[in-house]
Amino acid sequence: MTVFHTVWESCQQRDSFLQPMWDYLRINHSGMLRSPLFPVILTVASYFVLCLPFLACDIMGEKWPAIYWYKIQPGKMPTPAMLLHCSGVTLYNHLLLVLPAAAAQWMWRPPIPLPEQAPTLLELAVGVVGNLLLFDFQYFVWHLLHHRVPWLYRTFHKVHHKNTATFALTTEYSGAWETLSLGFFAAVNPMLLGAHPMTEMLFHILNMWLSVEDHCGYDFPWSTSRLIPFGIYGGPSKHDVHHRKPNTNFAPHFSHWDKLFGTHADFSFVKTH
Ligand SMILES: [Zn+2]
Ligand SMILES: [Zn+2]
Repeated sequence: MTVFHTVWESCQQRDSFLQPMWDYLRINHSGMLRSPLFPVILTVASYFVLCLPFLACDIMGEKWPAIYWYKIQPGKMPTPAMLLHCSGVTLYNHLLLVLPAAAAQWMWRPPIPLPEQAPTLLELAVGVVGNLLLFDFQYFVWHLLHHRVPWLYRTFHKVHHKNTATFALTTEYSGAWETLSLGFFAAVNPMLLGAHPMTEMLFHILNMWLSVEDHCGYDFPWSTSRLIPFGIYGGPSKHDVHHRKPNTNFAPHFSHWDKLFGTHADFSFVKTH
């Protein structure tokens, strides 16, 4: 039996890797898992934690000159005032808008079921990728509309474009409508796709990681866009192009919608236009 077959079979096995972890969560933290506030708290907490490594690069940049090798716009490091302002806007949006909206879900959302079985690794991977692809499509359409209709851009999306050189904390730097509508897509997709709670949790964390990485302002050799081959994935350089030339690269994660609609641009675009 080849290594491939062994890995493939273990991905399809139940009661393997994920079941003990799920049993622990389901038995000891069922109240937390059933709470409509949990996805919001998980998303906000993972946002600040995932920003930390990039924040360290931003703050320590002068002492770690090697960092500038990977900075997409090396001359544009954020100031402490910019970092504080972005953190304040994010906390404000989530405490005053997203948390009340999530609490309102109690009025209409049926109790979240907690199945006894954990997903297999294969079900987990397919579920997370499915959620990411659906979110990517919804965000692409939303984003395209909010650039093509001047009133929508001026009223709702312009605030996210205040920074032409992004840094991790600009990920959630946006107005109320943008925060709520994109948060709604992320919240509703696992329900639409019937995702297992474990799949939903991993989707929220991964979706946040990819969004932070898109805005981090660094293109490291281990960036997701460099690990995923064939230009399938956008990543920090492509989203940097969007903030400098906002009529390109509307999809948050993958490249296929921009390629299909003729709005795809790579990093050379900002040097030649
Ligand atoms: Zn952005
Ligand atoms: Zn935009």
